[in-house]
Amino acid sequence: SSWPQRAGLSYEDLQKVLLETPKEEKAREWSQYYTAGPHLAGKNLSQAVWTRERWQDFGVEASIADYDVYINYPVGHRLALLEMKDKSKAGPAEEEQGVEVEKSKYRVRYECSMEEDVLDEDPTSGLDNRIPTFHGYSASGNVTAQYVYVNRGTYEDFEDLVKANVSLKGKIALAKYGRIFRGLKVKRAQEMGMIGMVIYTDPEEDGEITEENGYKTYPDGPARNPSSVQRGSTQFLSIAPGDPTTPGYPSKPRCPREDPHHSIPYIPSVPISYMDALPLLKALNGHGPKASDFNEYWQGGGLGYKGVEYNIGPSPSDLVLNLVNEQEYITTPLWNVIGIINGTLQDEVIVLGNHRDAWIAGGAGDPNSGSAAMNEVIRSFGEALKKGYKPLRTIVFASWDGEEYGLIGSTEWVEEYLPWLSKAAVAYLNLDVGTRGPHFEASASPLLNQALYQATSLVQSPNQTVKGQTVRDLWDGHIRTMGSGSDFTAFQDFAGIPSVDLGFAGGPDSAVYHYHSNYDSFAWMDKFGDSGWHYHVAITKVFALFAASLVETPIIAFNATDYATGLDFYLHSVKNLTTTSTDPTILDSPIVKTLESAIARLHNASAAFDARAADLATAIKGGVPWWKWWRKAQLYYQVRQVNDRYKYLERQFLHPEGLDGRSWFKHVVFAPGIWTGYAGATFPGLVEAVDRGDRNGVERWSKIIKGNIDNATDSLK
Ligand code: GLU
Ligand code: CA
Ligand code: ZN
Ligand code: ZN
Repeated sequence: SSWPQRAGLSYEDLQKVLLETPKEEKAREWSQYYTAGPHLAGKNLSQAVWTRERWQDFGVEASIADYDVYINYPVGHRLALLEMKDKSKAGPAEEEQGVEVEKSKYRVRYECSMEEDVLDEDPTSGLDNRIPTFHGYSASGNVTAQYVYVNRGTYEDFEDLVKANVSLKGKIALAKYGRIFRGLKVKRAQEMGMIGMVIYTDPEEDGEITEENGYKTYPDGPARNPSSVQRGSTQFLSIAPGDPTTPGYPSKPRCPREDPHHSIPYIPSVPISYMDALPLLKALNGHGPKASDFNEYWQGGGLGYKGVEYNIGPSPSDLVLNLVNEQEYITTPLWNVIGIINGTLQDEVIVLGNHRDAWIAGGAGDPNSGSAAMNEVIRSFGEALKKGYKPLRTIVFASWDGEEYGLIGSTEWVEEYLPWLSKAAVAYLNLDVGTRGPHFEASASPLLNQALYQATSLVQSPNQTVKGQTVRDLWDGHIRTMGSGSDFTAFQDFAGIPSVDLGFAGGPDSAVYHYHSNYDSFAWMDKFGDSGWHYHVAITKVFALFAASLVETPIIAFNATDYATGLDFYLHSVKNLTTTSTDPTILDSPIVKTLESAIARLHNASAAFDARAADLATAIKGGVPWWKWWRKAQLYYQVRQVNDRYKYLERQFLHPEGLDGRSWFKHVVFAPGIWTGYAGATFPGLVEAVDRGDRNGVERWSKIIKGNIDNATDSLK
């Protein structure tokens, strides 16, 4: 018996519809539409309108929510290796420190192409209006200077360079992609006084599937095409996502605007391929220390077989880079598509979202494997509506614009609807790259762990070795903590709405995924990524069934005990930090000890609460005869009470003043790592105080966090 008793489709029948409706041909058709041409943020209105129309065809109310945002479009670029015409005039490297060189004394040794090859096999790689290689939110500039190889440009890499006395000031950084979010590489380089940055894709990123290991390169085989370039945003996403001129409030026409440079760089940067990086890296051979002399993180890279010795430099003063980056900055509209199916309950809302904008014409993996799946999810719910389905909770669907520049569409929308979302939102489910290989991956708020295990158990895996294996069976069950890098960030970290992000990723033997490159295309997906389109269908089903469980289960499918267990685990990892800290006794304070007991109390309250919720669920399942109306009224009241407490549990962990130096981030448990971006930090305020060796900060954050935990405990009583 459904709760409250409703006409129409039962939950079981709904699940059946959601498992039977999604189709490979349909996913392929949606993908083909989205990947046929450029759909950069703010330049995809026709796709927003088309998406709204499809959702309406499926039977869902849909409209467009627009914002005026500050973003950049590429105008021009150049990267060239210059050598001095008359070498005898070259001074010692130090003499030139911090001084730009006079270009007339130099001639071009190598001009980077800064373009990806046009491939006959991959039609969108050759479109006339294909998108140049560039960095979102990069600064315009024209700089000429000696350059230094800075490994991956992480905080630690720069520390190592300082320790080794490598001169950085006034030089251009040559970094490889990987490990951390690219914008934070640029942030650290500018803080070190460097005047520009070049970021290249090193084939070491690709594991075993490389040209060096004998694999053919795309389009002939699964290895990386040597000309592929990773575009991407260089916003400082661990400081604040969204429109950098409106942190914390929506970018509406004529709203006040702030200086964006709090969260975007002022030194220019460009991305290049490994083909273009080779001559620059080789030119450093013999100059300065070798990367392999540093530590395990500096063990060269994947171009040794091409003669690169991975010297750090700096390049001699007769060898410099000229880096030109020309960007047009404008304030321009972008468009979210918002669909809604009203449920019986209007104040319990499940939001499902996926971004639509891409860096390239294609984007078959990022984001349109997610967009294709999202359309199939909505088409499936539409089929259920035709059969008389009326959801218990309200379902909201979102097709975000501007994710790639800095999670803009989702952040501005959350900032605008914060009062409503704070009251009504139960959970946010994010789908970005739905499919790029066969390995299921997820990150989530611990409240959602159990629901995720259940949903993945309901869907058959496309790569069964034993008949009947589900997605859950072939997944190791590891759920990562929420970091950033996709549209869940504003929901989880700003609004305190429990979120999940999921998708199928590549594994060690999958074809190389050309992230943010022209070769993340329909042609690649159709041949290498998901040739049968089965993973598109599998992720559709997981997403739809997960949503359905949150929408239809009378008691919200959360588990509070898992949250408390998570907190306990995170606290232990903070303690392990002190073994490497400069001040090993920094956490030996009575207030820190009280955190442990606060978590223990939350754990007890959570276990009792989950048990009470489970009893209530059993009581509802048993059903109540129609004439026992008072019993029904009593149960209904209890269900509302339990659900309210589950709904607001994650909100208890918000701290309105936000984190130190990045006040947009309000959550005391989860935030992107300040120097990682993608990877999450837990108890970020506390951890950053430990890292700074700031004893007062440790005390202050322990008190704040204890207050949040105690509030959470009280809220469950
Ligand atoms: N998914 C985007 C990226 O990883 C996010 C960009 C951002 O958050 O600024 O590049
Ligand atoms: Ca804003
Ligand atoms: Zn994406
Ligand atoms: Zn992306």
